[in-house]
Amino acid sequence: MSPRAKKAGKPRASGKAAKAPKWKGVKDDAFAGHALRPGDFVEAELKVSESVLHKSVDLPMLLVRGEMPGPTLFITGAVHGDEVLGAAIVRRVLDSVERRIVAGALVCLPVVNRFGFDQGDRYLPDRRDLNRHFPGDADGNMAARIAHTVFHRVVLACDRGIDLHTAASGHSNLCHIRGDAGDPHVRELMRAFGTPIIVDGDGPRGSLRRAATEAGVPTVLYEAGEPRRFQPHAVALGHQGVLHLMARLGMVGPAGPRPPLQILVRQSAWVRADHGGIIDLKVEPGDLVRKGDAIATVFNPYGREVDDVLAASSGVVLGTATDPLAHPGMALAHIGHLDKTFARAKAYVDAGGDLGHVGWGRGLAFGDGDAEE
Ligand SMILES: [Zn+2]
Repeated sequence: MSPRAKKAGKPRASGKAAKAPKWKGVKDDAFAGHALRPGDFVEAELKVSESVLHKSVDLPMLLVRGEMPGPTLFITGAVHGDEVLGAAIVRRVLDSVERRIVAGALVCLPVVNRFGFDQGDRYLPDRRDLNRHFPGDADGNMAARIAHTVFHRVVLACDRGIDLHTAASGHSNLCHIRGDAGDPHVRELMRAFGTPIIVDGDGPRGSLRRAATEAGVPTVLYEAGEPRRFQPHAVALGHQGVLHLMARLGMVGPAGPRPPLQILVRQSAWVRADHGGIIDLKVEPGDLVRKGDAIATVFNPYGREVDDVLAASSGVVLGTATDPLAHPGMALAHIGHLDKTFARAKAYVDAGGDLGHVGWGRGLAFGDGDAEE
């Protein structure tokens, strides 16, 4: 196999969007049409569409305002309707702060693609991907109209954002944070969130995090695990990460020490099957691999080995297939390149650290020490 290197991000001019933070504040005791006074917690709804039975389709919206002025932070989940992880993270975050924050305002939309969430489907009923239609268009297609409402009623009224995702169907991802490291405010959010692995990239055109960041609302994306599942470590690391980020913004009290290791991944590449067959995958998200290590073995239906699929570079496994059946070209493993940082990551793992596996029974990788990248 011959995977082609793909750059996770692209070169950006230094200093882009390096404006000093200036919080917008919640205007006129209202947010998206709902009264929100200092100290309030409000369960609200945001109308984004209508059903074929001409009923209003509303998103659940949770609003929390601190007694002190500060940043307004949005948290979105299930922009891809089957990526339900965000609902579990939002619930844990609100429980752990007892629906109160010290400063600023928090707006949570745990289910942005409500149509897909209802059906366990990534897409909207028109088969469009909502996360390719931001900032939206009030006169556009179904996805563009929903995106326009969410973007203009909520996102643009905020100062910072976190979008919660999982891998797409048939894949699983390492618990990690993504964002445009060329934007200093995004970079600050990514480091504060605190996953050991940070992946640089501005995101696909039309994605919520890219459109928000380009519109002056620096936004990061948390990726972890699989769709349609609440995987304990994916939930726990996301929960901790949101609290760390909120603490960094002064919205809640201190949330513990920074992780002992943070590595920025600037390039990544997919390792693909060159033959159809039945896959025996040798790695899982969070593993370290060296160039030439076996990623997978492909078998024919008679149990004979067809091909060994090898890592083309050394790095951390960001994601893998969960479907064991492959056609030629199927994405088997996503490797984040670690060149100068491989030895440090290896020492961290050898000392018992974890880079963000989704599986059971592993530590959360937070402790004392200096963050590095
Ligand atoms: Zn997603």
